[in-house]
Amino acid sequence: MEIDYAKIGLKVGLEIHQQLNTRAKLFCGCPPALFKEEPEITFLRRLRPTQSELGQVDPAAFFEFQKGVKILYEANRATSCLVEMDEEPPHPLNMEAVEAVLTAALMMNMQPIDEVHVMRKTVIDGSNTTGFQRTCIIASDGWIKVGEKTIPIQAASLEEDAARKTGEEDGGKIIRYRIDRLGIPLIEVATAPVIYSPAEAEEVAFAIGRILRDTCKAMRGLGTIRQDLNVSLPNGALMEIKGVQELELISKVVKYEVQRQLVLISIKEELNKRGIKKDALQQQFIDVTEVFKQTRCKVIRKALDKGCGILAVKLPLFSGILKRELIPNVRFGTELADRARFWGRVGGIFHTDEMPAYGITAAEVAALRKATGAGEEDAVVFVADNEENARDALKAVVERAQEALEGVPAETRTAKEDGTTRYMRPRPGAARMYPETDIPPVRLTAELIEKVKAHLPEPAEKKVKRLMREYGLNEKLAKQIVDSEYGLLFESVVRESNVAATTVAAFLTETLKSLKREGIAIEKVTDNQIRDLFKAVGAGEIAKEAASDVFVWLSKNEGKSCQEAAAALGLKMLSKAELAALIDRVIAENRNVVDKLGAKAFGTLMGVVMREVRGKADPTVVNTLLKERLANR
Ligand SMILES: [Zn+2]
Repeated sequence: MEIDYAKIGLKVGLEIHQQLNTRAKLFCGCPPALFKEEPEITFLRRLRPTQSELGQVDPAAFFEFQKGVKILYEANRATSCLVEMDEEPPHPLNMEAVEAVLTAALMMNMQPIDEVHVMRKTVIDGSNTTGFQRTCIIASDGWIKVGEKTIPIQAASLEEDAARKTGEEDGGKIIRYRIDRLGIPLIEVATAPVIYSPAEAEEVAFAIGRILRDTCKAMRGLGTIRQDLNVSLPNGALMEIKGVQELELISKVVKYEVQRQLVLISIKEELNKRGIKKDALQQQFIDVTEVFKQTRCKVIRKALDKGCGILAVKLPLFSGILKRELIPNVRFGTELADRARFWGRVGGIFHTDEMPAYGITAAEVAALRKATGAGEEDAVVFVADNEENARDALKAVVERAQEALEGVPAETRTAKEDGTTRYMRPRPGAARMYPETDIPPVRLTAELIEKVKAHLPEPAEKKVKRLMREYGLNEKLAKQIVDSEYGLLFESVVRESNVAATTVAAFLTETLKSLKREGIAIEKVTDNQIRDLFKAVGAGEIAKEAASDVFVWLSKNEGKSCQEAAAALGLKMLSKAELAALIDRVIAENRNVVDKLGAKAFGTLMGVVMREVRGKADPTVVNTLLKERLANR
C-alpha cells in the first residue's frame, strides 16, 4: 500500500546529535574517547531527584527516581577525571567545540547569539553523575537548501554527551554506566517540523550530516551520530522517537511510525464500533493463581514456585485486538506489554489473544475466562509476579487500553536497529532547564565570528565541481566522495600515495559501502591506516586488488599495520624474477594451447596466471611479462 504522506498530513522535525572530535571534552581536559578494558574505578550512587531551581521535577524523571534504582559508575583514568565524577566543578567551556558549532551554524545561515549561557537540563536516569545535562545554544534561525526546498534550522546547540549504559544487575535495581562518554561535546541541530515524507526526512538528515562532517570535527563510527525524530499525524499524535543511530534508517523509522499510528487509528474506530466505553475498562484485578495451580507453562510455574501469584484483568470487547500487528514484531499486545514492563517492572504479560500457547492449555484458558467473567468477545490479560508489580503492570495495561479508545497516545519511544520503535517513557514535561552557575557566560565576539567565517569549509556543490576538475573524477564519483565520511581523507590519500584518484575514490565510497553492508566494522580502520594502505599500494608493496582484503583484516585486528596485514594474508608481492618463473611454468604446462593458438593463447594464459597471482602482482606487469615470454618462445 503506497501512502500519500502529504494527504494524511505527516509532519517530521529532526534533532541531530553529532559527537565532536575535539582535543578535549567540553568541561575538562580529558580526551573524548571510550575505553574497552575493565574499569579502574567504580563508585555507587543512589538516584536522587534534583529539585530544579524553578521548583519543578519532570514527571518522567521523578518516576525513574521512585523505582529506587542505584547506579554503579565505571571509569578509567585515561578518559575521565574528577569533573565527570562530579567531585570537581566543570572547567570553562571548550572554545574549540564552540568554534566547531559556530562553523556548522554559519554554514547553515544561522545567527550566532551574543552571549553563550550554559544551562542545566534535568536528567535523573543516572546517565549524568550530576543529575543534569549541560547544554547551551550557540546560534538560531537559519536555513539550508535540500533540493528545491528551504528547510528552516531552529537552533544549533552544544551539549555534553551522557554516560553510556553498560548493563544491569540485581533485576534492574542497579544500573551500570560508563562515564568515559560523559562530557564528550555534542552538536545538536534542530529543524522546524516542516518535513513531509519519510524520504525527505532522510534527505534533510543527510544534508545536515554532511555539513557537520565538513566542519572536520565530526566523530566517525556507530554511535557518534544520533537522531531524534518528532513525528506527528493530525489524527494521531506527536511522537518523540529517540536514538536512531544510522541516517539510512530514518525513512524506515518514519514509515513504520506512520503505519503504527494508522493502525492504532483503525483500532480506535473498531473499538468505537464495538461500542466500548472508557468506564467499562476497570482496574478490577482478579487473583487467578488457582487456575494455574497445575500448569505446565514454565514461566508461570517458575513464578509460582517463587511464591508469586497471578493477577488478571478483563478487557471487555477487546478480543482479537491484542493480536493486531502495528509494525513488524509489534502487536497491540506488545504495546500493553511494554507499558507493563515499564510501570510494573514485570518481565512481560500473557493475554488470551495468544492462547492456548506457551504450555497453557485450552482448559486453563476456559477456567481463566470463567474466573474473570470474560466471554469470547472479551480479552483477558494476566501477569505472574509479586502483587505490587502485578498491580502496577495491570494498571498500566488498563490505562493503555483506555488510551486506545482515543487513538494514539503521545509518547517518547526508542528506535530499534530494525527501524521499529518501542515505548520508552511518557513525554517529559517542558520546564526542565535552569542556569548553570559554575560556568561563566562566553561572549561570541565579532572577532571570533569573523575568524570562523574566514575559515568556512567549501560548500558541497563547489567541492563536487572542484574534485571533477582537479582529480578527473566523474560527477557521480565526485558526489559520492563529498557525501561520504571520507571526503577530506580522499584528497590527502591521492596527494600522498601515487594511486589513481578514481581508484581511491571508488575504494572510499563503493568498496567501503559494500564492506559495511557485509557487516565489516569499517569505522575501526583509522584515517592513518587508510593512508598507509594506499601508500603501500602506490609503492607496489600491496596490489590494489588486495586493498579491500587488507582493509577487512585491519578492521578485525585493531592497531596493526598494513605490512602486518599483508604478511598475515600472504599478500607479499612477487618479485619480477619470481613472476617470470611462474609465467614460464604456466606456459610449459599449457604447451598444447600455445602450439595450437600461437599468440592468440595470450588471453587464456593471462587468465590462468592472474588466478594464481591475484593480489600478489600488478596485472599490467603480468601483461607485459607474459607477452614478452610468449614472443620469446
Ligand atoms: Zn575529565
